[in-house]
Parts: sequence; C-alpha cells; structure tokens
Amino acid sequence: MTTKFCVIGAGFTGSIVAEKLAASGYQVDVYETRSHVAGNCYTYRDKDTGILVHKYGPHIFHTDSEKVWSYISQYSKFIPFSNKVKAVTGGKVYSLPINLHTINQVFGKTFSPSEAEEYISSLSVDIGRDPQTFKEQALAFVGEKIYKLFFETYTLKQWEIDPSDLPASILKRLPLRFNYNDNYFNHKYQVMPEEGYTPIVEKMLSSERINLSLETSFDKSLLPEYSHVFYTGPIDGWFDYKYGRLPYRTLDFRSFKSQGDFQGNAVINYCDNSEPFTRITEHKHFAPWETHEQTVCFKEFSRACLPEDEPYYPVRFAGKNDMLDEYLKVAGNTPKVSFMGRLGQFKYMDMDVTILSALNASEKILECVTHNLDIPSLFS
Ligand code: UDP
Repeated sequence: MTTKFCVIGAGFTGSIVAEKLAASGYQVDVYETRSHVAGNCYTYRDKDTGILVHKYGPHIFHTDSEKVWSYISQYSKFIPFSNKVKAVTGGKVYSLPINLHTINQVFGKTFSPSEAEEYISSLSVDIGRDPQTFKEQALAFVGEKIYKLFFETYTLKQWEIDPSDLPASILKRLPLRFNYNDNYFNHKYQVMPEEGYTPIVEKMLSSERINLSLETSFDKSLLPEYSHVFYTGPIDGWFDYKYGRLPYRTLDFRSFKSQGDFQGNAVINYCDNSEPFTRITEHKHFAPWETHEQTVCFKEFSRACLPEDEPYYPVRFAGKNDMLDEYLKVAGNTPKVSFMGRLGQFKYMDMDVTILSALNASEKILECVTHNLDIPSLFS
C-alpha cells in the first residue's frame, strides 16, 4: 500500500496536520462536511457591507507561544488588536475583565491598586480547599457581589449548568487585575489576521499533494485505503454514540445590520437576565483598520446542542466524566485512527492551544511515519 493519509475536518487541527504531512512529501485526502474550510474560525466578507464577519462567533488570536506565532505568522499579515470587552449588568455598563475600574464602579470607590486588592481579598469567600468548581473559584477570587453581577447569570445562560457543577478551569480563563488594564487577554501576541482566518487555512491546504473534498462526509468503507486517519470531528460521533451523546453547547446567532456604529465596541456581554443572549458582537470593530458606513452585529444565544446542530463548546463537568472516560478509553485503543482537536479530544481550547497541540502532534506523527512506528490514537 502506498502511504496515503486521511484527515477528517478542515479546521486548524486537520489543516495543520495535512500541511505538515504534505510538506514532507505525503499525499493527504482531506474530508470536510461543511462547504468551507477553517472550522469555527471561518470568516467571510458580508456581500452587502463588505464587513469581515466571524460566522461562528468572535475569534481573536492571542498567544504567548513563539512556536505558534512563528508558524501562523507565515500565513497572513496580522494587525495588533486588543479585545476590550464591556459588560452590561444591573442596568449599568462596566469594564471587563474585572479590573480596578470595574471594582471602583461596582463599589462606588476610588481605590488605589493596593486598596482594591486588600478590599477584594476581604470579600473572598474561604472555600477551605483549592477551588474545584466554577462557583468556588469565583467566590474565592472576587467574592459574592462580583460573582453575582458578572458571572453567575452569564454562566447559567452560557452553560445552563449550576456553576457548582462546572470546573474551576472555565473561570481561570479570565484575568483579575488591580490596575486599569482592560485588555481581555494577557498574552504577548494579540492580533487579527488582516483578511480573516479563511485565507490562512486555504493556504495551509494549498499543496498539490492535498486533495480537499468539501461537503463530503467520510465514508468508513474507505478506511483500508489509508495508512492512517486523523479525525477531528466529535469523538462520540466516530463511535456512533455507542455510550451516549457527549454534551456540547451550540450557539445561535441572530444577525442584524444597521448604519453607523451600533454599540461602539466589538463585544458587549450581557451578564444578567435583562437579555436572553450572552453577548452582542459588532464585527467591524474586530477590524478597526477598515472603514465601513454600515454595521453587522450578532446576538449570541447559547443552548444545548441537538444531534442536528453544530457542536461548539464541549461541556466538561467538575469531577468525573464517565461517558467521556469510556470514549477516551476506546479511542485510545483504536488502531490507525488519531482523535484530535477540540471535538476529537472533547476539550475547550483556544485557537493558539489548538494550533500548538496540532504542531506538536504533527512532529510526533512525522517521527512515527519516518521510523515506521504506530501513530498514537490520542496525543497528550
Ligand atoms: N464569563 C462570565 N461572564 C462574562 C464572561 C465570561 O461569567 O461576562 C464566564 C462564562 O462562564 C464563560 C467563561 O467565563 O463561559 C469563559 O469566558 P470567555 O469569555 O473566555 O468565553 P468564550 O469567549 O470562550 O465564550
């Protein structure tokens, strides 16, 4: 058999693996069920307005990894971009992530950094252990008042799960700052691709050794044709849901257009129940170097993912995840198939983490191929 590989899914993970294999001289067939590449990072220009739209919700590129940055920056011009989110709660607008401005706004104070730090630590609830759940983490981190204003209801809208049943890791994504820095991220590189993410992934897949089939589901009867399959779809889907359906959240976007500037910012979160959506994104503000008279906005609604929906966020609970453990066990014992990416590993991963794990996995894959070793089914 000639060495030919199969990649299922043309998001970042699948496209990086395909690109690396093709660059090493191998033939790769890529199957993608959607009509486009780039997975949930897909961007397109709205026909009426010319605005670059993030079809599956906002994706801001941020990383501390030199390896990720040197890889991705080959594919596009990137422009510095800081995400400065605002939050509406209790009829007022606040600065997010929680910073000195937010603290002074919430408590009606003029605290200095050290005063704010002392005050917030006096509000911190003593959990008596290392916080395990989202709620414990939040109460230990910022106390009851800020938790209720910014996190409790937003999290219920986003996950529909009691914050006591969600892992602390979800909240650990957000910084807490005792200065006026209102940048949502801490990373060294915070940028946006000038022309969006789609051309980046198209370039990754542009090798003549890569054969891309869009709107095509992989047919398992083709398995014998390939030396190995890299699967980036939902892990439970590969096994025909034999242990049940893993829980995902899906998003509905209600899009609307208007003239001028709708909200004056790229992202505004709605942290209380005054609105049923979690946030409104105004896409032209993700490309502030462009000028547009009109505007395109998305209201973002989160709900449980049904079989016919697009899975977005894997729902991991605090504590044990028995069904997931079953799938990971059987995946780990599946020869000639690797389970990769956000859906293949059922992990809530940012773009840079996804890219780093795909780059690291690709190194391992090429080492295995060169030395004729079995390629792992799961990568750590
Ligand atoms: N979160 C919240 N209030 C906010 C923003 C975030 O409670 O205003 C919580 C919520 O549980 C969310 C998590 O923090 O799922 C992570 O937020 P992030 O903005 O990183 O979510 P993403 O952009 O990935 O949806």
